[in-house]
Amino acid sequence: MLFSRTLIPTLKETPAEAEVISHQLMLRAGFIRKLAAGIYTWLPLGYRVLRKVEAIVRQEMDKAGAQEMLMPGVQPAELWQESGRWEHYGKELLRFMDRHDHGFCLAPTHEEVITDLVRREVRSYRDMPLNLYQVQTKFRDEIRPRFGIMRAREFLMKDAYSFDVDEETSAESYRQMHAAYRAVFDRLGLRYRAVEADTGSIGGSFSHEFMVLAATGEDDIASCTACDYGANVEKAEVVLPPGEPAQPGQAVASVATPGTHTVEAVAKFLGVEARAVAKTLIYLADGQPVAACVRGDRELNEIKFKNLLNANEVFLASPEVIAQVTGGPLGFSGPLGLKIPIWADQELYREAALVVGANQADTHLTGLHLGRDVPAARQADLRSVVVGDPCPRCAGGTINLDRGIEVGHIFRLGTKYSQALGANYLDAEGNSKPIVMGCYGIGVSRIVAAAIEQGNDSNGIILPLAIAPFSVAVLPMSTSGQAWDEGQRLYQELRAAGVDVLLDDRDLRPGVKFKDGDLLGIPYRLVVGEKGLKNGQVELKHRASGQVEMLPLNEAVAAVTRLVREGGGQSL
Ligand code: ATP
Ligand code: MG
Repeated sequence: MLFSRTLIPTLKETPAEAEVISHQLMLRAGFIRKLAAGIYTWLPLGYRVLRKVEAIVRQEMDKAGAQEMLMPGVQPAELWQESGRWEHYGKELLRFMDRHDHGFCLAPTHEEVITDLVRREVRSYRDMPLNLYQVQTKFRDEIRPRFGIMRAREFLMKDAYSFDVDEETSAESYRQMHAAYRAVFDRLGLRYRAVEADTGSIGGSFSHEFMVLAATGEDDIASCTACDYGANVEKAEVVLPPGEPAQPGQAVASVATPGTHTVEAVAKFLGVEARAVAKTLIYLADGQPVAACVRGDRELNEIKFKNLLNANEVFLASPEVIAQVTGGPLGFSGPLGLKIPIWADQELYREAALVVGANQADTHLTGLHLGRDVPAARQADLRSVVVGDPCPRCAGGTINLDRGIEVGHIFRLGTKYSQALGANYLDAEGNSKPIVMGCYGIGVSRIVAAAIEQGNDSNGIILPLAIAPFSVAVLPMSTSGQAWDEGQRLYQELRAAGVDVLLDDRDLRPGVKFKDGDLLGIPYRLVVGEKGLKNGQVELKHRASGQVEMLPLNEAVAAVTRLVREGGGQSL
């Protein structure tokens, strides 16, 4: 492709609206432009990257035996009412009416549509296992679209759905998809982890997320220092180090603690550590008040709590509700005497004498022993893991925390959707049974941003060869004479060899071309200048390492072609 004939509107300045580096660089490199909040146009260069990601995903899905199809982006309300998600999906589901007043939504995902298809078309155990996938535009009216295409409202997803006769074969389909996902992310050339995850609004019993490691990731992920355990912090189990429950000691006593609304203030006022204070949080779980207690130096994990309660929504209660339920103001709640269900983190049972709120203004209780004083409290794992917690899977390993960007999520759905929509099959004996499903998503467009979060320097984007917009850029140092002629020849020969190559044919100063070349994330650059040509040489620069080498002119095409082939470079 010729630079001069391609729309590559690079920017010199960092756009103020972009907070994270991938968003800044995608705008600066002319990969994307914003149309509305969370809605972007892919310009030619960005679209090339997107298509290369898509190609790898597609090849690995096909290899794993999944069949590609394409479903509509507009879906009828009735199907979502049938599955129960018309109510539960919330405001991310963009709903509208057609001219006949029929309800529709823009597809945020396709479980309903695919299950509807399968209940009509798949009848017999002989038709399974079956795996169908698509690469399709999704719309989710995200509350806070941000980071460019990372958390967009309109985005490209690969979604696959598996259909099996029982849990055992469904588990096998899941394992195959897990392996295919590993193959995808290995080929993409990204540093990533597969971690156990919460199933969220898609539902089901079991899931893994694929996380690209990056400091700007929105997810915290726990992994073991010794074994291959990994989990999203939303889900990661806390296992306490060996130890015994504490024996009760002193009796409960009431102390005046004027104006101490926070754990820190109470701890300081009483001269104890934060861990000796139990914070009591009042929540509304699907509208019902419930109390959760955790050690003062820990964080309650709302997702674990929600799952424990089997609730659809949990919200911190307002000061008014707290006053009603506990009799005291916000900041002074405690478990003693509460008439609502109380859940206490397992760790609190290791403490002999806790400080808790007295459910009365400016008052706390000391000497509380949960087992002795609040027998109605139920013990559970409520807090988030922290660095150094013991690994829940192996002996000796401890937990480490990283940040990650979720680029893929796979679920075992069981019969959640097939039962809701009546997708059944006949087994060999003629019995009707619900189809067992799995679903498997990859954020194709988000991967582009994640790759740039992982690969960049002060000069711009550094993309893996497999997904770079071009594998090689040829830069003639002038637009006439020998440098121009040889540049043209190298460009043509590389193209003929099947290499994805960009010729910077613009009549601009070399400095400008170098800067643009670095910005665009093209892994190899061939610089053709009069000086090198005098010695029969051209310069090859590796974008990632900055390494420069001189190649004999007549060997350059073969050498670069080999590098690109061996490195997994793609041509569009
Ligand atoms: P998140 O927790 O980031 O909101 P999710 O759990 O809602 O993700 P899934 O429903 O599992 O996401 O969707 C599959 C994949 O689609 C995700 O792993 C992610 O890579 C991608 N994805 C989800 N939401 C967005 C979005 N708003 N913009 C871009 N990609 C997205
Ligand atoms: Mg989401």
